[in-house]
Amino acid sequence: MLPGVRPRRAWIYILSVAALLVPAGGIAYLGAVSYRDERGAIAAQDERQRQAAARIGDRIRHEIEAALDAVERGTASGSAPAAPLARYWFWIDADGRLRAPMPVPGSVDLGGSLDRTAPCAQGTPLEDCVRELATRQTRVTRLQAAQRAEACRGDACTASWTEAKRQYASLVQYDDTGHIAQLGLARTLQRLKDPKAPAALAELEKRFADRTFEGVPVQLVVAMLRAEQAGPDALLDVADHVLAGKYALDPIVRLGVLARIRGRLAGALTEAQARRRAELDERVVQIRTEARAAAGLEAEVPELARTAGTAWRGRGATYVPARTLIYRRRADGGVIGISVDAPMLEAAAGSDPLDAVARNARAMVMPSGAPVAPELRRIAQVPLGEALPPLQVAIVNPIADPDPRDEVIRERSKKHVIYTSALAVALGAGLLLMIRGAARARELAQLKSDFVSTVSHELKTPLTSIRMFAEMLEQGVAQGDAAKMARYHGVIVQESQRLGLLIANLLDYAQIEKGTRRYTPSRQDLAGLARHAVTTFETLRDPDGTRNSIEVEVSPEAMRADVEVDRDVVVQAVLNLLANAAKYGGADKPIEVSVGADATGGWIRVTDHGPGIPPSEQARIFKEFYRSPEAYRSGVEGTGLGLALVKRHIEALGGTVEVASEVGRGATFTIRLPRIQEQA
Ligand code: ADP
Repeated sequence: MLPGVRPRRAWIYILSVAALLVPAGGIAYLGAVSYRDERGAIAAQDERQRQAAARIGDRIRHEIEAALDAVERGTASGSAPAAPLARYWFWIDADGRLRAPMPVPGSVDLGGSLDRTAPCAQGTPLEDCVRELATRQTRVTRLQAAQRAEACRGDACTASWTEAKRQYASLVQYDDTGHIAQLGLARTLQRLKDPKAPAALAELEKRFADRTFEGVPVQLVVAMLRAEQAGPDALLDVADHVLAGKYALDPIVRLGVLARIRGRLAGALTEAQARRRAELDERVVQIRTEARAAAGLEAEVPELARTAGTAWRGRGATYVPARTLIYRRRADGGVIGISVDAPMLEAAAGSDPLDAVARNARAMVMPSGAPVAPELRRIAQVPLGEALPPLQVAIVNPIADPDPRDEVIRERSKKHVIYTSALAVALGAGLLLMIRGAARARELAQLKSDFVSTVSHELKTPLTSIRMFAEMLEQGVAQGDAAKMARYHGVIVQESQRLGLLIANLLDYAQIEKGTRRYTPSRQDLAGLARHAVTTFETLRDPDGTRNSIEVEVSPEAMRADVEVDRDVVVQAVLNLLANAAKYGGADKPIEVSVGADATGGWIRVTDHGPGIPPSEQARIFKEFYRSPEAYRSGVEGTGLGLALVKRHIEALGGTVEVASEVGRGATFTIRLPRIQEQA
């Protein structure tokens, strides 16, 4: 047998069984694990989402902590806390009073009222002070009269204002009524369009620089009065200074001042002035809102003071439903806290790439149990903390974007489909392999059974001839005719040689199949081999030498071509080709043999002029036991082994066998063998 033939067949069996079992097992396995894995993958996605929400919650709690610390530091140092969440902060002192923010008082009256408890100014001699106090009531009465006179409105007020001016002028020298009188004087002079008005304002600024009117410093009062004279731009400048913190003002007083400035800006304004006024309005609204929040807080104070602990906690604000108050107790017994809403907390959470658990995912802070908007999908939610029972953190994404759980399933099913399809293809290939194997086995069985009957016939025919002619000789049928007797002998010899070739082929095949065929290569000249085979063939075919002999054409290159082969095997192979050429090509048609060579190898070519071989048959004729239907039909004898043996032998010697044929125009078989490379 040729090396590798049997192991290859065994491999084909193993592979085809594996090609069936592996994919079938794979499909079964995938089916079994897919359900479990799917659940696992979804659980993992859920966990990822939950963790993202928990991390956001952590960040918010951290920001709350930072804001409360900032408030604590701010109350200690008297500065405003800097943390983003501490925008609205509060402070209740140990006595339960709201210290910050301050509640809003009524309107600010720049007319000024008298501080009734004001003591004599420092440095005033005692007797002056006593006299001042003794005459105080009279002065207060006069001051009120002056203020009433000043309050006159309309065209016919000049006399009234002149009277007010006189009254004020008499009061400016006193320490307690002086600053109010000086202010009244300046104002009345302005009303009277008196050129001394600016000097009166300058006097007020100089003499009473450290005084305030209802918390408004004298400088600011003066600045406002001057600005009211100068026009809208000057007023807007003063407002800007107030907002920028130029004057030391209580926040609530500041609001009053701004409201007053705003009241003076009613007239026709230029475009730029109108824009500045709109900005001012915006700021005033903002400050008012904050102040209102402070006012609202007042109602909460007792409850906050009662429930505060050293660890922070939160409760919904009753005065604004969307606000949450987060507060804790200070070491001194007071309470500090912040007032926050959901957007503030969401902004405080910031963002982290790990939050992106879905396309366009974002964090939302909302009351526990509240539904999300219909255009949003809630992906995960966690409570914001035990200390903040009314709030929770939710991760949402737009409903138009994919649900991350569906994404997970889609991704997995895509993989699943790819795996199962690949396995199904493998299964199909395995089945095909098996079917082909079975078909081949059937074909082989059929060929073998044909072979047995052919071989029996092939053996019987020469044997019958031999026996018949031997009997004829024995019985003296030739009657001493020497020519007849020679012909009988010739037939007997020819038939026994044919029998010999047949048996040699059978034995060879048996050896190849068993794997016991051995080759003994030796150096041979290619042309010599071809000639020897042709001579042997001619002796077999025509012992009398009556037929035209077959010419062997040798190319000049081939004359020098030597090959390393088993001589008997190559001769037998050429004999087989010649026997086929004679059998199928037609007894009387010529046969051509040529020998050629090139640099690497040499070849022996046998050409006949028979019916040829159709292209569909050309590969099959080299298979064991194969005989073409045409061969059966025409009754040409044969076993279907000849070409199979030629191919196996020649390939075992490192060569190849090819056929070239056109139907109706004969066939050419070529044996190629590697040439011995001469050393230079
Ligand atoms: P056998 O000749 O015993 O049938 P072979 O293996 O020698 O077996 O040939 C196989 C088949 O190839 C033959 O049955 C025949 O059909 C075809 N064949 C071989 N040689 C020729 C040829 N020279 N011309 C046409 N057909 C051929």
